[in-house]
Amino acid sequence: MRRSLLTSLTTLPPWPLLCVLILVALAVGSFLNVVITRLPVILMRGWRAEAREALELPPESLPRFNLLTPGSLCPHCEHPITWHDNLPLLGYLKRRGRCAHCHGRISLQYPLVELTTLALTLVVVWQQGLGMDSLAILAACLMLLVLGVIDLRTQLLPDILTQPLLWGGLLYHLVFAPSGLTEAIIGAVAGYLVLWSLYWLFRLLTRREGMGQGDFKLLAALGAWCGWPSLPLLLVIATLLGSIYGIGLQLLRPATRGQPIAFGPFLVIAGWLMLLCGPTLMAAYMSTLGL
Ligand SMILES: [Zn+2]
Repeated sequence: MRRSLLTSLTTLPPWPLLCVLILVALAVGSFLNVVITRLPVILMRGWRAEAREALELPPESLPRFNLLTPGSLCPHCEHPITWHDNLPLLGYLKRRGRCAHCHGRISLQYPLVELTTLALTLVVVWQQGLGMDSLAILAACLMLLVLGVIDLRTQLLPDILTQPLLWGGLLYHLVFAPSGLTEAIIGAVAGYLVLWSLYWLFRLLTRREGMGQGDFKLLAALGAWCGWPSLPLLLVIATLLGSIYGIGLQLLRPATRGQPIAFGPFLVIAGWLMLLCGPTLMAAYMSTLGL
């Protein structure tokens, strides 16, 4: 009888399984870096092309650019990066975070995303084992990672990622946890409406935009994954982290005062915490409130 790859993996003894997991997680982390750096450029090109079409301007002739083409280039000198310098973590460590050609600094984002992917993979597999349901949770955690870093870099939370994350959360409950489906559907609607209401309240009072619309969709997706009862605590954690970061930044770099801060990364961290240790955090939160 043919066994699935997943079944074969689960029967491996612990050490070989750990090695396979580490290698796969680092390779996935490396791909996520490609998505994080290229997706905003691909989207921006699409919006420019649409705007030119609407303005009846001739289309721009730009070199081909997608997730695969061109190959990896140094962001400073655009020299191609060889495969051995492009190996997850090892390439960065070998060149000490600098380009082999021009010695320009390579962003810490690359090893950090690879390490975070590895950490999330090990935590999910350690907590929940290797199954289709735990892979779905891991996929959600990794999509959140991509969204958080893209928001940090560009202040964008692309629909192309937030929408599948939302549908994925509802499907996850439908397939693996049907008893939580109602809480997930209400969570998605409530998550969107909470931030939408805050956005309009802030806008009517101050005539300014307090947050981006991507934040509504991201919280809707988190509501779909975690269920509506988790949303108050999730928002408390995200707001607390965002406030600590904002105050710290103003104290350390006063020049940044008044500049907008992306809220997505804090929603992402709160989402990870609720996805990976929600029941423990909820119990602590309830006992703090005396409920
Ligand atoms: Zn270079």
